[in-house]
Amino acid sequence: MVHNVTLIPGDGIGPELTEATQRVLEATGVKFNWDIVNAGVDVIEEYGTPLPEHVVESIRKNRVAIKGPITTPVGYGFRSVNVSLRKTLDLYSCLRPCKSYAGTSTFFNNIDIVIVRENTEDLYAGIEFEQGKSETAEIIQMVERLSGSQLRKDSGISIKPISVTGSERISRFAFEYARANNRRKVTALHKANIMKYSDGLFLAVAREVAQKYPDIEFEDRIIDNMTMQMVKNPAQFDILLCPNLYGDIISDLGAGLVGGLGLAPGANIGDEVALFEPTHGSAPKYKGMNKVNPMAQMLSGVMMLKHLKENEAAQRLEDAIAAVIREGKKVTYDLLEEEKRGQAVGTSQVADAIIEKMG
Ligand code: NAD
Repeated sequence: MVHNVTLIPGDGIGPELTEATQRVLEATGVKFNWDIVNAGVDVIEEYGTPLPEHVVESIRKNRVAIKGPITTPVGYGFRSVNVSLRKTLDLYSCLRPCKSYAGTSTFFNNIDIVIVRENTEDLYAGIEFEQGKSETAEIIQMVERLSGSQLRKDSGISIKPISVTGSERISRFAFEYARANNRRKVTALHKANIMKYSDGLFLAVAREVAQKYPDIEFEDRIIDNMTMQMVKNPAQFDILLCPNLYGDIISDLGAGLVGGLGLAPGANIGDEVALFEPTHGSAPKYKGMNKVNPMAQMLSGVMMLKHLKENEAAQRLEDAIAAVIREGKKVTYDLLEEEKRGQAVGTSQVADAIIEKMG
């Protein structure tokens, strides 16, 4: 069977990572019909937008996509293409495994955590009011009138919506994922002691959904305490169920614990469409240098193969990646101790080594 897949190279380090990933995916023997389309700052001149409609249409048609990272200007310019894609396609679940592989130089070697992050709500909803604007003054007045609290007139405002609907479907996703993948426990993260009507709602809904899954253990943690426990004893955690912002932050913490962003894959999943991409960004300073680690992008490809029910190929590719990490000879700089970094190979040589391992 040939799989129709949309491939978005992205920008920064994206194109070299997706090229390496395409090669290892094809080396599994699985057949792909790639529809290669691009988004981000590089296409604005041609299409007048960083996210052209034909890109969204391609993903809708194929229902499966893999993308490289895309740069978002900080503090100015267009909104994140990544966030827009998640919202437009209603990719409400972000799945980010953090797994220890032998051969990495880390404090812990027994981590196997899957982060399930709500992807459409929270402070990421993109509802913001700029300091000094008339609509912001109106919001400030309304908040003062309705809440009785005073706000500084020179405030900027970001809205944090968390709904029953959004919390319910992500909680259900986490428990269904737990069942389907023989996982034992779901831990919900929140700051419900302070944000009672947003995080508190998230927690209440998660608790309710948990009751329908008596075979899966459920617990919760306040997010600040959680960050401390993650660095002290991460092996106690299994699946982490998170609202959007905490999920984002804890994903990078999890990535750091298993050896860095170069080993942290991800997926954005909705009811209709799944889009696979690493946790890391476009690292523009390394663009075109054949230097960075393609494994997070490739492990996102492993997740895609599983989604396509190509389980045997997924296992073979993951085993080959794990073997290359374990041997430590054909790996990029980020997987080597400072004094051995001179022995690092480049992005495309890592792909060659993985293909060789698959035989
Ligand atoms: P980043 O993840 O791009 O890079 C941070 C640092 O992590 C890099 O400087 C590098 O040292 C390391 N790193 C990242 N990926 C690596 C890899 N594959 N191998 C080895 N080392 C790696 O984060 P940033 O610098 O905060 O963001 C850069 C841009 O990426 C921003 O515009 C941001 O908005 C965007 N971004 C995009 C996505 C996405 O496309 N989904 C996700 C996060 C950030």
